[in-house]
Amino acid sequence: MAKQPDRTGNIEIDRKARLKIPRQSVPKQKPAARVHNFSEVYLGFDVETAKLEASRCLQCPDPSGCSKACPLHNDIPRAMWHIARGEFLDAAAVYRETSNLPEVCGRVCPQEKLCQGSCVVGKRDAPVFLGKLEYFVADYERRTGGIRKPALAPATGKRAAVVGSGPAGLAVAEELLKRGHAVTVFEILPVAGGVMVYGIPSFKLDKRVLADKVKCLEEIGVKFVCSTTIGKDKTVDDLFNEGFHAIFLGTGAWTPTTLNLPGENLKGIYMATEYLVRGNLPPEMLPAHMNTKPEAGRHIAVIGGGDTAMDCVRTSRRLQIQSGIADGTVVDYYRRTEKEMPGKAEERANAIEEGIQIEFLVAPVQFFGDDDGHVRKMELIRMQLGEPDASGRRRPVEIKGSNFVVDADTVICALGYNQDRLIEKTTPGLKVDKWGCFVVNSETGATSRPGIYAGGDNVTGADLVVTAMAAGRRAAVAMDAYLRGL
Ligand SMILES: Cc1cc2nc3c(=O)[nH]c(=O)nc-3n(C[C@H](O)[C@H](O)[C@H](O)COP(=O)(O)OP(=O)(O)OC[C@H]3O[C@@H](n4cnc5c(N)ncnc54)[C@H](O)[C@@H]3O)c2cc1C
Repeated sequence: MAKQPDRTGNIEIDRKARLKIPRQSVPKQKPAARVHNFSEVYLGFDVETAKLEASRCLQCPDPSGCSKACPLHNDIPRAMWHIARGEFLDAAAVYRETSNLPEVCGRVCPQEKLCQGSCVVGKRDAPVFLGKLEYFVADYERRTGGIRKPALAPATGKRAAVVGSGPAGLAVAEELLKRGHAVTVFEILPVAGGVMVYGIPSFKLDKRVLADKVKCLEEIGVKFVCSTTIGKDKTVDDLFNEGFHAIFLGTGAWTPTTLNLPGENLKGIYMATEYLVRGNLPPEMLPAHMNTKPEAGRHIAVIGGGDTAMDCVRTSRRLQIQSGIADGTVVDYYRRTEKEMPGKAEERANAIEEGIQIEFLVAPVQFFGDDDGHVRKMELIRMQLGEPDASGRRRPVEIKGSNFVVDADTVICALGYNQDRLIEKTTPGLKVDKWGCFVVNSETGATSRPGIYAGGDNVTGADLVVTAMAAGRRAAVAMDAYLRGL
């Protein structure tokens, strides 16, 4: 491969030499140790390995495949260029040009399907560890002086309310504040962060990471009003009457999909988010009705195949061990094959290292309880793959007569999420589709009501942190224009 000018245009890089640099590994806690704690599994790069790993980047010309594949279009080669030279704060600044949460995306994005999946180095060798390097620099910045505060435009005198403090809401809040508008975020839960706090376990994303970001937003002027439900404590129209000029709905998708199977209401059967929240968070971060640890039986069954299912198996394994059950089983049951699994492959591998089994091509049929109404066994049926369905994935079809029964004294259902209808019901004129998702202009996030915008999982259905953030950033641009036009 020919030498090409680097990103400053005046020094040549030797791509052949770069291709010879071996992929650097990221240290992680050993499985036997990490199942005893909820600390982050990955310990992160050190300075020298980060520089070496970043220097594997071939500095592809603009627009590079990795940047195109990132929903935020982060200028990844430019960040890699800085990291390779040890200019970590400059690299962090590159990410912050296009992302509000590089410290989160670097940890939880499915990079193998996004940036790393398009890395040219990956065609010959393992792709550059782009995600791990992204959060390395974001953490470096946090630890050396804190997240750098953005410049704020002069105050416009306009006020925006943001409902929900997940990645979509936080992105809107920061972007509107930067543009000179006053922003207040309303949140049902006691602590801001959405699923990033109340969902994704701390062994994947340390709660302090989000806490630092929220603190930074507070310091630059975002006001957070937690433990407040819009649609119940006050309505969207009450917010307009209080003097907010525009409102962003970033309420996510929190209503769990249920199985509708016999025995589903037995004790010991949980919905994923409730299990994760109660299993991972300290009581002081939880509403009163949720601040006790969930059960972790000897035979734990998780149903589902996405990131949430993997988070559940790994959380329940840790709780099982904390309860002194070292010889218990944790099995994930998924109705398709590994190829169709939607979650991140790396996290699946981590789960397997932690002793979790995954059973493919099986679906639950019913649950059996004991005299106290507690689940003890689960009946399953084997599946085979048929024709592709609307999602393009091959549809699972039952194999008649293949039913079997397994022990299961804790069952966790991780089947996906639907929309909560509270805001729709309490806000006249707000259009939703047949799934209850807000109908918006996909470029602007504008809903059917002037001045109300929406984005993230409440528009797309359950998706990703990065796509919710991207939607929030797009909406903020449109809201800024709307507010300035008033
Ligand atoms: C367990 C789990 C694990 C996941 N793992 C990953 C992962 O590894 N990688 C990844 O990219 N994505 C993951 N996701 C998906 C990702 O977290 C979501 O797609 C993303 O958080 C959606 O962002 P959002 O801003 O739309 O909503 P959310 O993050 O859901 O935030 C919405 C917020 O709005 C609040 N709210 C709702 N209604 C109201 C109301 N009426 N009034 C006030 N506040 C309200 C909620 O309490 C919540 O805090 C995971 C999801 C789950 C559930």
